Amino acid sequence: MSAILDVRNLSKSYDGFLAVNGISFSVAKGELKALIGPNGAGKSTCFNMLMGQIRPTTGEVRLDGETITGQRPRDIWRRGVGRTFQITGTYQSMTVIENVQMALMSHHRRIYAILPRAWTLYRDEAMEFLKTVSLADQADRPCSVLAYGDLKRLELAIALCHRPRLLLMDEPTAGMAPSARIALMQLTADIVRDQGVSVLFTEHDMDVVFTHAHHIMVLNRGELIADGDAETVRNDPQVQEVYLGGGTLFAEAADA
Ligand code: ADP
Ligand code: MG
Repeated sequence: MSAILDVRNLSKSYDGFLAVNGISFSVAKGELKALIGPNGAGKSTCFNMLMGQIRPTTGEVRLDGETITGQRPRDIWRRGVGRTFQITGTYQSMTVIENVQMALMSHHRRIYAILPRAWTLYRDEAMEFLKTVSLADQADRPCSVLAYGDLKRLELAIALCHRPRLLLMDEPTAGMAPSARIALMQLTADIVRDQGVSVLFTEHDMDVVFTHAHHIMVLNRGELIADGDAETVRNDPQVQEVYLGGGTLFAEAADA
């Protein structure tokens, strides 16, 4: 499989402190890949560099062979790097399907979203996206009354409206109950399989990571210490030291 994302020697230094220290990795087309690591390992810093929020100190980021290093977030997003945004403010008072229609209008660059007639636009297409995330039955409810897990699924549908080639999800299941976490990651895995989108995500729940990710990378103090399939990463001595030293993580996996 060829790479959708190729990262070489990526670093971010804050006054000499290397939050991310010369990491290199790739994400294959159609891959669901996890980036894990203890708090403060540099995961969010890495994501923010990929999305253009933070300018790297060193390194290069290539999307499908073209460099996107140092580009603005909006330009990177236009090139097909999606991310989920929290639904806030007035969007909360709009219905579920209206939020998806807004995203589709933005994707198709329609600028007259304020006209009443605009709400007939893209309704069918929006409904297809809602079906993808199993929210069709909630289409006409205001977002403000949605359960937290449903809101997260709506955010995912909205991200998909822009037909991303690569979706970056930094702790998508934060704040969710374990069952809802598993459901959201299962849904993400289905989308990767059915739509050929590539996904890079961070996640604290090791069950979720080891069940769903095709490949797993482990970041520790800014350095990538492992990159491979679940079996390889689970048996890596350095990874075991980082996690077992902290206590809990691979207890179940080690029994398996
Ligand atoms: P993670 O997402 O893995 O928990 P982060 O990427 O948020 O880790 O942070 C990595 C390290 O970089 C942490 O030690 C954090 O304190 C530091 N850091 C993050 N952002 C900044 C900043 N703007 N200035 C200085 N240090 C930062
Ligand atoms: Mg983080």
